[in-house]
Amino acid sequence: MSKEYETVIGLEVHVELATKTKIFCGCSTAFGGAPNTHTCPVCTGMPGSLPVLNKQVVEYAIGVGLATNCSITQYCKFDRKNYFYPDNPQNYQISQLYLPICRNGHVDIEVDGVKKAVGIHEIHMEEDAGKLVHDEWENTSLVDFNRSGVPLIEIVSEPDMRSADEVIAYLEKLRLIIQYLGASDCKLNEGSMRADVNLSIREVGATEFGTRTEMKNLNSFKAIARAIEAEKVRQIDIIESGKEVVQETRRWNDDKEYSYAMRSKEDAQDYRYFPEPDLVPISISDEWIAKIKDAQPEFRDEKKVRYKEEYDLPEYDIDIITNSKHLADIFEETISITNKPKEVSNWLMGDTMKLLKSEEKSVEDISFSPKNLARLIDIIDEGKINRTMAKEVFENIFKDDVDPDKYIEEHDMGMVSDDGALKTTIEEIVANNPQSVADYKGGKTKAMGFLVGQTMKAMKGKADPASVNKILKGILDNI
Ligand SMILES: [Zn+2]
Repeated sequence: MSKEYETVIGLEVHVELATKTKIFCGCSTAFGGAPNTHTCPVCTGMPGSLPVLNKQVVEYAIGVGLATNCSITQYCKFDRKNYFYPDNPQNYQISQLYLPICRNGHVDIEVDGVKKAVGIHEIHMEEDAGKLVHDEWENTSLVDFNRSGVPLIEIVSEPDMRSADEVIAYLEKLRLIIQYLGASDCKLNEGSMRADVNLSIREVGATEFGTRTEMKNLNSFKAIARAIEAEKVRQIDIIESGKEVVQETRRWNDDKEYSYAMRSKEDAQDYRYFPEPDLVPISISDEWIAKIKDAQPEFRDEKKVRYKEEYDLPEYDIDIITNSKHLADIFEETISITNKPKEVSNWLMGDTMKLLKSEEKSVEDISFSPKNLARLIDIIDEGKINRTMAKEVFENIFKDDVDPDKYIEEHDMGMVSDDGALKTTIEEIVANNPQSVADYKGGKTKAMGFLVGQTMKAMKGKADPASVNKILKGILDNI
């Protein structure tokens, strides 16, 4: 019988914080920009320049720590991690080794109905490096220091995960917590959230960990899941063939679904860490922590409970709306104007999702104002337009954020509410379609639908189907 193995996974997640300026200087953190335009002597490592800590970085780090049940290190320090790389102009990175700002936390995940807490070993603050741009045509490598000094937090989990599904659930949970806090947009594809996967294999029941490898260059949840599966198989093959797994850093190539060794995995001692001499230790008061705690938003789990209690929405709707802070904000703002949660949810779940899909956009791209959606819902309730027209109006709200009242007026969409005019039209339709009338009288109720259709056509769609049905039935039943 072949042996049974267990996969042991821990994650190191780097998150770029949403501060306007860098961690140790006043340069902009804006993504993009012409190369080396967001730079100064500090973030390009010029001799004699001195770092000054950005207070907002500490606040975001504490915020994430509190939201992930960590204890905050009230006396914390920065350390210097020494290494040479062309995108690292100081030849060291200012990071934290001995006294990271947050420790011993956890987040709760759920996979297939099974709940589990994933431990957080620590969260530390550090600066990002620049970027090397390889130009194969010119056979040169250039360096862009715009990213150098962008603030990061690194969230180091305990090796508590056992499958790709648990890893994705953990990352989703972290992403939502940080997005709700506004501490980062957490976009894997733009690199504002990056996950390195530490993975080892051991026999089920073993108490010691196997030798782990670290995988880098994972820029989507799908890539992470594929990389985990491939690495698991690779390590089991090595063990089964009697060889030993080598501790190393591997780079994942998602197109080829294959990873290759980058370098042997280094330990902390290889970096000759020492206390950063250019920065004073940070002292974090109880009051400061309390203030940050008070300012924490309502997170997803709490929102889900409240939406169920207050709005009685289907679980499916609640799941989707709260899965994005942006969408939850739109929902809440719309119902603060028109208190019709089910209607609002229907527009978000139905037409909004359909339009996003057809335009290949994500919920984060929704740009219409809640007040226009709220007004559209009220207009429908006032009976001014029917649902078919409302869909057209909504499409224009979705695309161009139009004012629904103006749009309806400009396109002459207002409904004929004059029952007299409607009755005259219906009488004409009935007179011109004796066969359908006879069919209806003979018990073919379908014929009624045809007559409604003819009336709507004659009214150019500007009639309320409910009124048409009512008047038509009255006329037919009296023949
Ligand atoms: Zn700078």
